[in-house]
Amino acid sequence: MEQVVDFFRQLTGSSDWPPRWYCGNWTDFHGWLYIISDLTIWLAYMAIPMILIRFIFIKKGVPLAKVFWLFGAFILLCGLTHLVDAIMFWLPVYRINALVRFLTAVVSILTVFALIRYFNEAVGLRTSKEYDHELSFRLMAMQELTRSNKELQQFAYIASHDLQSPLKTIANYLTLLENKHGVHLDADARRLIGVSTAAAERMRDLINDLLSFSRVGSEIAFTLVNLQDLVDEVLEEQQSEIQSTRATIDVGPLPTVMGHQTDLKQVFQNLISNGLKYHRTDVVPVVTIRSMEEPHQYRFAISDNGIGIDRQYFDRVFQIFQRLHGRNHYSGTGIGLATCKKVVDIYGGQIWIDSIVGSGSTFYFTIPKVIKTVHQYAQTDSLHSLN
Ligand code: ADP
Repeated sequence: MEQVVDFFRQLTGSSDWPPRWYCGNWTDFHGWLYIISDLTIWLAYMAIPMILIRFIFIKKGVPLAKVFWLFGAFILLCGLTHLVDAIMFWLPVYRINALVRFLTAVVSILTVFALIRYFNEAVGLRTSKEYDHELSFRLMAMQELTRSNKELQQFAYIASHDLQSPLKTIANYLTLLENKHGVHLDADARRLIGVSTAAAERMRDLINDLLSFSRVGSEIAFTLVNLQDLVDEVLEEQQSEIQSTRATIDVGPLPTVMGHQTDLKQVFQNLISNGLKYHRTDVVPVVTIRSMEEPHQYRFAISDNGIGIDRQYFDRVFQIFQRLHGRNHYSGTGIGLATCKKVVDIYGGQIWIDSIVGSGSTFYFTIPKVIKTVHQYAQTDSLHSLN
């Protein structure tokens, strides 16, 4: 212990030994070869950590950064041992030399442990060649997906248009039949006409909803959308439903967000109309629309005091054509919530439900303040700044 205290007390002392030049028989050539080599190694060992630090700062999110820092410290200390070795030709600071070597030994051992610990992770990291390979594969997959998506959208659009025209003819002729010959037909025949007309109307609704579903996300030019105005517009369009159910709609202050008017309108339209539609018999519907600002997104909540949804169906209702109730009880196509989810997914938000059967439901969804769709990544971001 005494030796340790003594060691640190005289750490910078050099009087106990002769300078290295006078220790043994050095020729000038031999001595300077030693010194110049040591100094060169020290300079190189200084430069390597600087380059590593610059690399870590430029290449943000570099994997295993801690190992880089440790490796930098290890190289720096190795360099210092060479510097001290060179200095000792004039100044025999053997204690400092020992201390620097001790520190180097500790950091070396830590580096060895870190390298062993992270070896498998490092092996798992992909090389830029592997990344290039994967990227080109993903690009191809994306192109294929975009193409088939476009095709599907076109198919839905054309099919809907082409289906609409014969459907209109059927509906018109049914009306004509009823108007022209209704008086001559018996009650059963008139009932059949009524069922056929209702089926034609239902098909029209299905076609329209499918068309809206397929159109979601087709617009890539985002603008500022004032949600207060948008919800007013939706409520205006649903006036007859609101009046017939004597519903109360309570709208809190809503923000202006970046997005696409038609997409966002679909979300509010479907959630509000569901809130009105799935009300309990003899209970006047109350629909509440609220928004909350969070650091990176807006959170919206649309609540009703309706029939509620059983927890086991919370995910299922967002799938297309999934309905929990028969057509005789509540009209609908089973496309509304799937459309909401499609919009929210494309915008990078989330949608979920909180509900108690017989008491009411709340649909939550989030819209990020900065929306990054695939199209926008392609337009604005380089792959290196994704994180
Ligand atoms: P649709 O209303 O046309 O049937 P949606 O996709 O909008 O289709 O809804 C899917 C199903 O989820 C509905 O059939 C209904 O059973 C259930 N649902 C949706 N919204 C509510 C709600 N606010 N309260 C209770 N059930 C709901």
